[in-house]
Amino acid sequence: MREMREEGDVLVFAEQEDGEIHMVSYELIGKGRELADRLGVQLSAVLLGCGIEDGAYELIYRGADSVYLYDHPSLREFDVIRYSRNILSLVRETKPKIFLIGATRIGRTLAPRIAAALRTGLTADCVDLDLDDGNLIQIRPAFSGNIMAQIRTRTRPQMATVRYRVMRMPRRDTSREGRIIRRQVEVIGETGIEVLEKIRADEVNLADAEVIVSGGRGLRRPEDFKLLEELAEVLGGVVGSSRPLVDDGWISKDHQVGFSGNTVKPRVYIACGISGAPQHLFGMRDSDVIIAINKDPSAPIFNVSDYGVVGDLYEVVPILIRKLREELKGRE
Ligand SMILES: Cc1cc2nc3c(=O)[nH]c(=O)nc-3n(C[C@H](O)[C@H](O)[C@H](O)COP(=O)(O)OP(=O)(O)OC[C@H]3O[C@@H](n4cnc5c(N)ncnc54)[C@H](O)[C@@H]3O)c2cc1C
Repeated sequence: MREMREEGDVLVFAEQEDGEIHMVSYELIGKGRELADRLGVQLSAVLLGCGIEDGAYELIYRGADSVYLYDHPSLREFDVIRYSRNILSLVRETKPKIFLIGATRIGRTLAPRIAAALRTGLTADCVDLDLDDGNLIQIRPAFSGNIMAQIRTRTRPQMATVRYRVMRMPRRDTSREGRIIRRQVEVIGETGIEVLEKIRADEVNLADAEVIVSGGRGLRRPEDFKLLEELAEVLGGVVGSSRPLVDDGWISKDHQVGFSGNTVKPRVYIACGISGAPQHLFGMRDSDVIIAINKDPSAPIFNVSDYGVVGDLYEVVPILIRKLREELKGRE
């Protein structure tokens, strides 16, 4: 292992819940590794929580050189004040050149507070990162996703939040070695935030889904999502949506795919009655296999799809469901 440097490294905030590292943190470790190697610096992660040592090893297996570990009961639940105070003292001491945070709910809460305290810039919701002359190029959509802006930050550290599912997941290598640096936790008593009870939100997790069946304005009524649910169920998938149906209150926002919704990368994405506006394509074009069902043969969705069915979704989807059920029955 190279000599541990005090300044100018790449730092990744490793998010965890109940000891489980969020996948976006591994994706950031993958990208951070690439950036650190190109810069010839170390890659570190900062991990906060309680009883989370195993997670620190996982970060090393994925590519971190060192992990700053803040392990204390006061950090068991995410508390923006406790987390940011501890991270701030680390950043002030170690002076990373680049600091990356996942654009999750926690990351989006934490990053602006840290950037403001450090009086540094922050680019939110990046979809790619690059280097130019040693500076971080933060790439994110602008003007409704019609252009990709390349942003540089003059101040240090260069901070960015990065969307989940846009970076490659690094391989897990248990032979990798690194340093776990246990940090003295600044224990902050009352912060005005107290977790009384944890209730699982009844939300769909599109980002991790293997199969997504999405509906667009080709649907006539909100109840018709049932048809797509049926197809999704046969395939072991979940239902997604284009934005207008979310805006109209037909389905909840967590189902929205696209620029202002979720970025998804399933094995199969089935777009039913979706035209393929750039803002929708932005969120799903990296799916392994894209199947489009649309009445209009000139719909732009066909330009990105691997398989296209020109037809009425109300005729095509029931046939698909029937055929798939027959196929599955035949395999029993
Ligand atoms: C800042 C900004 C952010 C945005 N973010 C998002 C986002 O995150 N996600 C998103 O989706 N959009 C987003 N949009 C909206 C986007 O520009 C489009 O308006 C939207 O994606 C269109 O949705 P749609 O394809 O369902 O509807 P339409 O464009 O109206 O397309 C409906 C399609 O259904 C087909 N159709 C109709 N009836 C049938 C039938 N019976 N069978 C088969 N096909 C049929 C039609 O041929 C048509 O192609 C955003 C816009 C802006 C300005």
